[in-house]
Amino acid sequence: MLLYPVMRLDNHPSTAIDRPDPVTTGDGRSIPAEADPTRARRHRESAILWLVGASAIVALAAILDTSSSREVVLPGGIALPEVCWFHRLLGVDCAACGLTRSFIHMAHGRFASAAAMHPFGPLLFLYTLIQIGLAAGYYRCGQTARYRTLIRWNASFLATITAIMLVVWCVRLVQ
Ligand SMILES: [Zn+2]
Repeated sequence: MLLYPVMRLDNHPSTAIDRPDPVTTGDGRSIPAEADPTRARRHRESAILWLVGASAIVALAAILDTSSSREVVLPGGIALPEVCWFHRLLGVDCAACGLTRSFIHMAHGRFASAAAMHPFGPLLFLYTLIQIGLAAGYYRCGQTARYRTLIRWNASFLATITAIMLVVWCVRLVQ
């Protein structure tokens, strides 16, 4: 559970969707969001953060490796300490335990190991890869109506996967 929190960027575009009604002038004419320089700049800034965040996750997964079932290691073979406070405290895996290692396996092309480490790891890794393309497109196009819909779908998909992941974790806990 090292990389996943990075995805929850505070200004992820899904949290910065403008109201559907655009800015209106004094005489009631509407100005499209991208014609407003302040909003357009804000959209580009959140696109850059989105792009950097998703790229950093993929890059880190490619740089890091795993040495044993629980260890994440730096390129020189130096093991990183366990970061999951839940597992350290209770000795039980949290819902996201194994995601970092799963991402690392995915970045190294070890798909079976990635799925074995966390059942949602491969899907979330692909989701992260898609974010790079989405963020680049968002930077180029700005918050068009199409992108607004795309961002909503994107956020709903992540929320659904997270909810399913939590349910699966709860079921496993009580078993
Ligand atoms: Zn954990």
